[in-house]
Amino acid sequence: MDHAATTYTKPEVFAAMVPYFSQYFGNPSSLYRFAMEPKKAVEEARKRVAAAIGASPDEIYFTAGGTESDNWALKGVAYANRKRGRHIVTSSIEHHAVLHTASYLEKQGFEVTYLPVDRYGRVDPGDVADAITDRTVLVSVMAANNEIGTLQPIAEIGRVCRDAGVYFHTDAVQAIGAVPIDVDAMQVDLLSLSAHKFYGPKGIGALYIRNGTRIDSLIHGGGQERRRRAGTENLPGIVGLGKAIELVTADIPGHNRRIAAMRDRLLAGILERIPDTCLNGHPTERLPNNINVGFRSVKAESLLLLLDAHGICASAGSACSSGSSEPSHVLTAIGLSPAIAYGSLRLTLGDANIEDDVDYVLEVLPEAIERLRSVSPLTPPCSPGEEAP
Ligand SMILES: *Cc1c(COP(=O)(O)O)cnc(C)c1O
Repeated sequence: MDHAATTYTKPEVFAAMVPYFSQYFGNPSSLYRFAMEPKKAVEEARKRVAAAIGASPDEIYFTAGGTESDNWALKGVAYANRKRGRHIVTSSIEHHAVLHTASYLEKQGFEVTYLPVDRYGRVDPGDVADAITDRTVLVSVMAANNEIGTLQPIAEIGRVCRDAGVYFHTDAVQAIGAVPIDVDAMQVDLLSLSAHKFYGPKGIGALYIRNGTRIDSLIHGGGQERRRRAGTENLPGIVGLGKAIELVTADIPGHNRRIAAMRDRLLAGILERIPDTCLNGHPTERLPNNINVGFRSVKAESLLLLLDAHGICASAGSACSSGSSEPSHVLTAIGLSPAIAYGSLRLTLGDANIEDDVDYVLEVLPEAIERLRSVSPLTPPCSPGEEAP
């Protein structure tokens, strides 16, 4: 129940990768014939990634994942265009790969506007238009939020940016395979994606960069990736990314129909069986696999421990910020009170889930909530070493 954190690598994807470890392991940059097959495989994967998002292959650059792609988009565009202006616009609910990069750039003398969102987590394209000044060089708004699943009006924001002559980056890490993406229809100039969020391997991703975009390199060294991203290619990873994106975008409605039906049954069951519960995020404009619910008088961390004891993997906020006791910046941005934000649970379904999983969560979760609530509001938190209630 935590597919937003990561997914398993599909057997077909893994099988496609295997020959590139020990059989066709040549360095794609080498000139001898043994390097031909690896080079061909990289270019084939590039075509597949391009086809999945309506780009052309020479606009796809392989990276080490979503975090690197986000860093590159923001830092690369900010530095390459700093003579034109030093202002960036983003939203307050971005992944930390964008937000922490933006705050780093602020320390380097750039100015960043963090747009608010409405109570469903949506950015108003009118706010984007209002925030753009003649010093703005980049707008970065994610396609789908990793915590609450809210989808952004990307095409509308793209139009605003194009009209203003400002580059538009979107973090589409959660959106790939969940909703159709077309960089031209959405007027996106840069787009981040990551294989391990759609049944590919970890540590491999891509940045789409529209031809003509002014951007500096992030990783300096050899001449790989048309001199823009140095480092010997992650050959098996690239092959896996190509296979995974082809599989997951082949039939997006078909892929999501079963998952969305299970999600809807799980959500309806939770709201019906557990009083004082609310859905966080947008009721309809949300990822087909995402549930984020707030439970009154419950601490999500205790709930996660109880669920884990029953073999259920779930998350509070995002996996990346777990371990911190701050309420999620996303839940805060949509205006939730700290009490509800602290008691919010994210369940994200995927390919491997079956109807029995839904039944099982609906059996375990209401009892867990009842148990926590029966001890919660008046009981002080237990001291270290004491057994949890
Ligand atoms: C997972 C995720 C990232 C980071 O991608 P990695 O490949 O894990 O570095 C960035 N943005 C969003 C929205 C994500 O969900």
